[in-house]
Amino acid sequence: MDSYADVSYWMETAGDLSPRPPLDGTTACDVGILGAGYTGLWTAYYLLKRQPELRVVIAEGEIAGFGASGRNGAWCAPDLNVSLERLARLHGKDAARRMQQATYDAVDEVERVTAAERIDAGFHKGGELIVARGPHHVPAIEGALREYERFGFGEHYRLLDAAGVAHKVRIAGAVAGLWSGTAAIVHPGRLVRGLAALVERMGARLVERTPVSDFRASVGGAPAALITARGEIRAPVIVLAGEAYLTRLAKLHRQLVPMYSLIVLTEPIDDARWAEIGWAGREVIASARLSIDYLSRTSDGRILFGGRGAPYRLGSPIKDAYDRHDPTHEMLRGFVRSWFPMLGDVRFTHAWGGPLGMPRDWHPTAAFDPRSGIATARGYVGHGVSTANLAGRTLADLITGERSALTELPLANHRSPDWEIEPFRWLGIRYTQGAMSRLDRRSEATGRPPTGRSLAERIASH
Ligand SMILES: Cc1cc2nc3c(=O)[nH]c(=O)nc-3n(C[C@H](O)[C@H](O)[C@H](O)COP(=O)(O)OP(=O)(O)OC[C@H]3O[C@@H](n4cnc5c(N)ncnc54)[C@H](O)[C@@H]3O)c2cc1C
Repeated sequence: MDSYADVSYWMETAGDLSPRPPLDGTTACDVGILGAGYTGLWTAYYLLKRQPELRVVIAEGEIAGFGASGRNGAWCAPDLNVSLERLARLHGKDAARRMQQATYDAVDEVERVTAAERIDAGFHKGGELIVARGPHHVPAIEGALREYERFGFGEHYRLLDAAGVAHKVRIAGAVAGLWSGTAAIVHPGRLVRGLAALVERMGARLVERTPVSDFRASVGGAPAALITARGEIRAPVIVLAGEAYLTRLAKLHRQLVPMYSLIVLTEPIDDARWAEIGWAGREVIASARLSIDYLSRTSDGRILFGGRGAPYRLGSPIKDAYDRHDPTHEMLRGFVRSWFPMLGDVRFTHAWGGPLGMPRDWHPTAAFDPRSGIATARGYVGHGVSTANLAGRTLADLITGERSALTELPLANHRSPDWEIEPFRWLGIRYTQGAMSRLDRRSEATGRPPTGRSLAERIASH
């Protein structure tokens, strides 16, 4: 990667990316944070809102926004990777309901703070549309609606027929859709860079190009520490907010796997073709495919199309080279042409990707252990834009010892099991990735939905 602008279109258009100075020797503070993505920055924000005198130091290995926060699909949506049914099985129905309500509130909180703090994050609450591209997808969206209804959230969602979808956006093969007004689109790069500047104005010290190689718990009154080649950040509380990249730390290696998600972006599309497509509401869009796709319409009239498909690699490595995977990027370009045939020979100007953090049970965590002084929030899979805000607020309450509605949520102090050791991790994930693609292709060919009973679907059911 020659320049941080190459990270993504979002970073390219986020303003000045000059790195801040690195750490210049061992330092003591009240809270040391690893990672300047949404999690680390929201945590710093809410801590400093509550206690402006706190000395907060954030160590970022590259620059703020280098991780998933500066690369994502721009969905700020009240979605989780754990289903409501599963949350209810694990934590009870009331807790599942509170967790879902907290995700709606998180979207509104991102809107409130970005407006109040004048962060130019392009927040636009255009809603979310999950489309059935063929009859094989219809049971999935009908099932999702029934689940929301069982938990008392049905009023947020509306089932659309083919005409209802076309009224919003003309997508080839769309036969139905599930619409909700609860989601927003943001400019991810400006959000994360704006947050970094904001917490600095509030008094936090952000050191960049300062990779943390290890961390130490607080023992017998000695502070906890983030350890870097340029010195240590010693504090009674340290926050590990590195999401997928935490797998690089030996002590956390098996807590997450880095799962690559990839994105292509078109050139700005002209008004005549937008008139054909519609999509005036700028809803965030996905289909009910098992192997995951996601779309958004940028404020300058481009289509972003993202999806999984890049293969998981043995040993969970993370490398700049993996941000690009030609077969997957080419598949995504093909999807754009197939969803929007009216775009014909549209040009693609950008292709990028990055690792998202996937815990073994797909369950997000915001945890603090007062004895060790170690806090962490992670495991959002593909839904971190709003969830990191919720996690940051939850960590601020846990760290300052405030019992609140947030500290009673299922994500508070959740501990995910470790992933299997290799090569079993690789075998299981690669099998599931391949099986999901095959199931999608079979459904597309036959028009029949997946049964939900295949081994891969049961492994990945969450
Ligand atoms: C391609 C892609 C598309 C996505 N699309 C969406 C979407 O549309 N909607 C959604 O809700 N979510 C999406 N996600 C997920 C979402 O972006 C993340 O969940 C969220 O940004 C996580 O924020 P974070 O701060 O926890 O982690 P990151 O943003 O990954 O930040 C972690 C930071 O920590 C730094 N770091 C890590 N380790 C160290 C270390 N040892 N020392 C120092 N610094 C370190 C990294 O450099 C990085 O800047 C997507 C993710 C990807 C990769």
